[in-house]
Amino acid sequence: MTQPLKEKAAAVYHLLQEEYGHPDWRPDFEPMDELVLTMLSANTSDINSGRAFEQLKATYGGDWQAVLDAPLDELTEVIRSAGMGPTKAPRIQAALRRILDERGAFDISFLAELPVDDGLAWLASLDGVGHKTASIVLLFCFNKPAFPVDTHVQRVSQRLGLAGPKDDPAKIKALWESLAPGDWFYALHLNLIRHGREVCIARAPRCEICVLRDLCDYYADNIEG
Ligand code: SF4
Repeated sequence: MTQPLKEKAAAVYHLLQEEYGHPDWRPDFEPMDELVLTMLSANTSDINSGRAFEQLKATYGGDWQAVLDAPLDELTEVIRSAGMGPTKAPRIQAALRRILDERGAFDISFLAELPVDDGLAWLASLDGVGHKTASIVLLFCFNKPAFPVDTHVQRVSQRLGLAGPKDDPAKIKALWESLAPGDWFYALHLNLIRHGREVCIARAPRCEICVLRDLCDYYADNIEG
């Protein structure tokens, strides 16, 4: 069973690459910025979390000590556009406190040297950091072989029939990590998200233009024939 799934996963990787190109790994943010931005992004859109992050930077000038020392109600207001401010603000301050206490500085670059599972475990031990956030930080900042599964990756994986309809993101993460080599993860993750946003749309998948339809269980079961 694993071998056909591996072949299917490889075909998905190559077809998406033909369609969208091969995004080369390029860190967009410093690791501390990525961690906080990703914590802000829980349960909201990239636009809203991006706004909150910009507001955070504008207010505190990139000074993490100032974020840590900020009155909680002030920080909650600053990040309001990300939603769940009363939950996210104390989590961000707790993460900053822990990093400062453990590392002596607001610096998580030590994760680059850790085995991926140890890095995931350390990040996931921060309140408010789940496997998706942890994987994003490790993959995007350090090109470590951790596969983040967001709502787009989950939906496309399930419709293709690589993942089961009831599989949760943690299971789908483990599945992709067993089916694809780590040096595919960055491009594969970005191309699956793009495909989910532009073609395999949640409400109405655009199967008629999809390059994956010959591989797709949803297409075979619902559209074809
Ligand atoms: S064929 Fe349709 S359901 Fe399958 S991956 Fe493409 S858009 Fe999604």
